[in-house]
Amino acid sequence: MEMIGIIEKKRDGKKLQSSDIEYFIKGYTKGDIPDYQASAFLMACYIRGLDREETFLLTEIMRDTGKKADLSSIEGIKVDKHSTGGVGDKTTLITGPLAASLGVPVAKMSGRSLGFTGGTVDKMESIPGMKVSLKEEDFIRQVNEKGIAVIGQTPDIAPADKLIYSLRDVTGTVDNASLITASIMSKKLALGSDAILLDVKCGSGAFMQDYDDACDLAKMMVYIGNAAGKRTVAAVTDMDQPLGHAIGNSIEVIEAIEVLKGEGPEDITELSVTLAGLMAYMGEKAPSPEEGKLLAKEKLYDGKGLEKFRQFVEAQGGNPEIIENYMLFPQAKHSIDILSDNNGYIVGIDADKTGEASRHTGAGREVKGQKIDLSAGIYLHKKVGDQVKEGDILATLQGNSKKKLLVSVGICKEAFHMAGSRPDKELLIRSIIGL
Ligand code: URA
Repeated sequence: MEMIGIIEKKRDGKKLQSSDIEYFIKGYTKGDIPDYQASAFLMACYIRGLDREETFLLTEIMRDTGKKADLSSIEGIKVDKHSTGGVGDKTTLITGPLAASLGVPVAKMSGRSLGFTGGTVDKMESIPGMKVSLKEEDFIRQVNEKGIAVIGQTPDIAPADKLIYSLRDVTGTVDNASLITASIMSKKLALGSDAILLDVKCGSGAFMQDYDDACDLAKMMVYIGNAAGKRTVAAVTDMDQPLGHAIGNSIEVIEAIEVLKGEGPEDITELSVTLAGLMAYMGEKAPSPEEGKLLAKEKLYDGKGLEKFRQFVEAQGGNPEIIENYMLFPQAKHSIDILSDNNGYIVGIDADKTGEASRHTGAGREVKGQKIDLSAGIYLHKKVGDQVKEGDILATLQGNSKKKLLVSVGICKEAFHMAGSRPDKELLIRSIIGL
């Protein structure tokens, strides 16, 4: 009876009380509230919206359904960095070592992803021998000794979110600022960091395609993080075209290494040093974000960031020789080039389509738990603004299943848009909220 009243309350646009939200979250997590009522409630929240107070309550109540990590024995200000998700986003593998080399302790739990490409943890698994789960005491020891550890998130962190996110995924209720905020921040707040840096993506490959919607999401997340007692900053960054040239798993780790060698693509390099600079500032290792960025660039070009990456790989059982020898990564049996049919300039590469094409190569999951092909993915030879001649290679698709690659080709080709003149350059880092 009670759940019906709560659904009707939100359906009619009224404000929820803490007891209403608690009733729903606890009841649904225990299995007492059926999916049909939870779906109706989520849709009411999606359409009517939740204000800041309701979103804050939802976040805290979801956080409290699980365990809270205790990172208090790690010295220093721990700054967590989280991206709302994008195509070709390998920044954690770059910003983590850069921030650690600047003295910011990086104690990170990352997710696997259901969707376009693998998550950070999937990417890490393409490094032979690399462990993505550590006992709590080993995790803490590694951060204290090496400055960085990255592991998969344990299922006891905000378990309510897991259940609710799966339902949102199939009921058209994902892209709502309050529901995204509660989902992400309930996990971030449980993870024990002192400060949180969010990379809120905006564009065709992001939840929020529109800049104003992405800013609203960023503002909501910053508000909730600060209200919960953690210094929170959000960068709103472009996700209209994929980041860098590589989309997949091993192929993205290779690109991250190239960036740390100072030889990576401009966009991912710029984003990584900006985020690492912000982490240094928030972790009180730099007097300003600008100074932090300069310091991060220094660590990138003097090889200290790469050295930190090597220590991180070694500490987690991975083979550090991959840094010099990319043949040690899983190798794809097949590859297909996509050629340009025209002369002109690339004016757009839809991040969502390339992400979907990458998933079809085998690099991402279609259903939860699916094994992914770590060698699979897409290498973009051209990016927005590049001049192209007929017959030039636009992209190379790789993977172990020729059949999958053939499906992927058509989708990937549709992602490229050309015109007769060079487009204006889009801003990569569009705004920073909460500084
Ligand atoms: N990532 C999450 O963890 N939750 C969302 O709702 C969206 C992205």
